Amino acid sequence: MRLLVVEDDPDLSEQLVDALRDAGYAVDLTGDGEEAQFLGDTEPYDAVVLDLGLPNVDGMTVLERWRDNGRVMPVVILTARDRWSDKVAGFDAGADDYLAKPFRVEELLARLRAVIRRTGGHASPVIECGPLSIDTRASRVTVDGNPVKLTGQEYRLLAYMAHNLGKVMSRTELTEHLYDQDFDLDSNTIEVFIGRLRRKLGADVIETVRGLGYRMAEPGDGE
Ligand code: CA
Repeated sequence: MRLLVVEDDPDLSEQLVDALRDAGYAVDLTGDGEEAQFLGDTEPYDAVVLDLGLPNVDGMTVLERWRDNGRVMPVVILTARDRWSDKVAGFDAGADDYLAKPFRVEELLARLRAVIRRTGGHASPVIECGPLSIDTRASRVTVDGNPVKLTGQEYRLLAYMAHNLGKVMSRTELTEHLYDQDFDLDSNTIEVFIGRLRRKLGADVIETVRGLGYRMAEPGDGE
């Protein structure tokens, strides 16, 4: 999952980026409203953490413009302001959730997990797919109840695909959602990780759709 963090406070933004990367997210950071708007309009983020008080363009305006432009990624607003009217304005501008500063990073992580899984149509934090079970709270994976040890990269790929069950995803799309802007990626990397996941989880877990990409079938799809 790839996130955009928009926060102009240098200490807080560093702390956020560290915590989110530790939690397994690819993260792009900007402290500028104008750049934020451009990135959100052009990059495929799985969620955005958006501060409201920003240089050049304020966060509320950035959010309104994204929604006007048809950008649907979930947005969690961060703000020092905790007045009810700001919360209402934020939700009306298109925010999905709200966190008042100061906050615990654990709470932000939980809120991000929730908005991301709802975007994928998952009500539960545990995603089941045939014999496979993925607990997104603990990054734990089991096959037929037996724990499987995955590397961080393997887990990120699996979690992204599992959040999009049934959807065919190209290598480009997978790359864009798993790595941040500055990552220089070999075009075969995704293929390598798909191969490793198949070895660890069973060859049937990920289907190759010739010429298009990969897919994790929804249970009941009839493989
Ligand atoms: Ca600020």
